[in-house]
Amino acid sequence: MTVSKWQEVSEPLQAEHDDVVIGAGIVGSYAATLLHQRGRDVALVDARFAASGASGRNAGFVLTSQRETYPTLIAQVGRPAAREILDMVLDNVARMRALAKQYEVPWEEGAIHLAETQADARELEEWARAFAADGVEVEFAHGDPYGAGYAASLQVEGDFMVQPARLTEAIAAASGATFYDHNEVYRIESEGQGLIVRGRRAHIRCRKVYIATNGYGCDMHPHLRRIVRPVRGQILITTPVEPLIQVAGITEYDYFRQLEDGRLMIGGARAFFEEQEYTAEDAVTPNLIQHLEAYLRHWFPGISFEVEHQWAGIHGFTPDRRAAVGTLPDLPDAVFALGFSGYGNSIGLLAAERMVELALDGRDPGPLSAARF
Ligand SMILES: Cc1cc2nc3c(=O)[nH]c(=O)nc-3n(C[C@H](O)[C@H](O)[C@H](O)COP(=O)(O)OP(=O)(O)OC[C@H]3O[C@@H](n4cnc5c(N)ncnc54)[C@H](O)[C@@H]3O)c2cc1C
Repeated sequence: MTVSKWQEVSEPLQAEHDDVVIGAGIVGSYAATLLHQRGRDVALVDARFAASGASGRNAGFVLTSQRETYPTLIAQVGRPAAREILDMVLDNVARMRALAKQYEVPWEEGAIHLAETQADARELEEWARAFAADGVEVEFAHGDPYGAGYAASLQVEGDFMVQPARLTEAIAAASGATFYDHNEVYRIESEGQGLIVRGRRAHIRCRKVYIATNGYGCDMHPHLRRIVRPVRGQILITTPVEPLIQVAGITEYDYFRQLEDGRLMIGGARAFFEEQEYTAEDAVTPNLIQHLEAYLRHWFPGISFEVEHQWAGIHGFTPDRRAAVGTLPDLPDAVFALGFSGYGNSIGLLAAERMVELALDGRDPGPLSAARF
């Protein structure tokens, strides 16, 4: 989005902090926590409210995975870098679990990758072998736990499901940062020795800026547009059905789970509507929602349900579908962590940490470095 000249309040609040984190999703909220732990005075700013973006709208899968399968990742970046990314993901999943427990956020064990075809099954088996070779505990099986006719399934030790909005809200609330909500940032400028972050409601002077706006903030700086592209995701919830799906499932294109109250949740299908979904517009479309509904009826025939609730959220996709941590070329004290490409629950905390270390310690973000673009 953008901010018009007329929307800015007539006398924006003037404030000063060591650091300004822009975006109170899981990444910005965790970055604010880490900065506060390092003794810094932090402002956490959001255009709306904590968890108003993808972190409050996602499906809640916390997977030992990235957009690409592990064998594809190895082919793309080589084994050492793939291994480093895997270690980060394992660490991230463990931290997510610890935070969910610490803040008593609803979570449940398990999530399973599913193959719809024999070709998908071969890919899943190859993935299982590559994970096992690198010490990740996996269980590969022909068939699926629901008896629904999937060709194969892969369970990775440690994968789980979480209520993502509650987790993000809890991290933001406990971060120790001063929170400026409903304060859409429209410009970051250098001023004297520092920076000034201009938002609709507040102008904040600071030493460092951390951009964690993912798919929602691509208009804030031209450099971000080169790295991250907004891509919409849509989800629906049904009326309750009988117990059907004991463990949440994810295929190449779709993901689904059954909530405690019996309602089914399904999302995905983006690949079938690709051009339409390259958008930052937070809206549901009948064609994609019908596709998701038809998917459930195809794989679980005989169930009777109505679509009760639908929503959309905006991802940030990078060209290679891996997160990017870097510095704005014209503002070296402004860093960013973006482009989770649908897997922010798996790598977002570690990307936030790499962003903080880049800003404060000059540490290279390694395989997440945005210098690759
Ligand atoms: C439908 C859907 C399903 C998904 N399912 C999963 C899943 O199951 N597992 C998984 O790992 N990932 C999933 N994802 C991806 C995951 O949600 C994201 O990768 C993750 O939430 C990104 O977190 P973030 O903090 O970077 O961004 P966000 O949570 O999007 O937060 C960005 C914040 O920045 C704020 N902002 C933007 N611009 C400005 C500005 N100019 N000024 C101030 N504030 C601004 C926004 O208001 C927003 O609150 C899904 C995404 C979608 C859309």
